[in-house]
Amino acid sequence: MNKKDLAEIKKLLIEKKAELLNKTNNVQRDINSDDINVGDEIDTASQNSDKEMLFELAAGDKITLNAVNDALAKIEKNTYGTCEDCDEKISVERVKAIPWTRYCIKCQEEAENSKR
Ligand SMILES: [Zn+2]
Repeated sequence: MNKKDLAEIKKLLIEKKAELLNKTNNVQRDINSDDINVGDEIDTASQNSDKEMLFELAAGDKITLNAVNDALAKIEKNTYGTCEDCDEKISVERVKAIPWTRYCIKCQEEAENSKR
């Protein structure tokens, strides 16, 4: 993977992260709107950490957000693009399609087959 590909992937990951976090904020707002007249709620809301807010995200979104964060960390450590299972390089086509993927196509398919 060249630097240009990596820069492109990093941008995709940051965009995805923003999208997911934005979703969290929207969910949070929906919940608070019911209690808009309760003064104590404001203090509670401001104390909510990012982690607590993530509980409001759908399970699938949480998994994706974790994967996005891990992928960004891997880019920083220069270990991005390697399968977590077999240590083989993940194809550029695959990481561009799903930049937060942890596994190469082979391991992903094996994991999916074993679930059935
Ligand atoms: Zn693999």
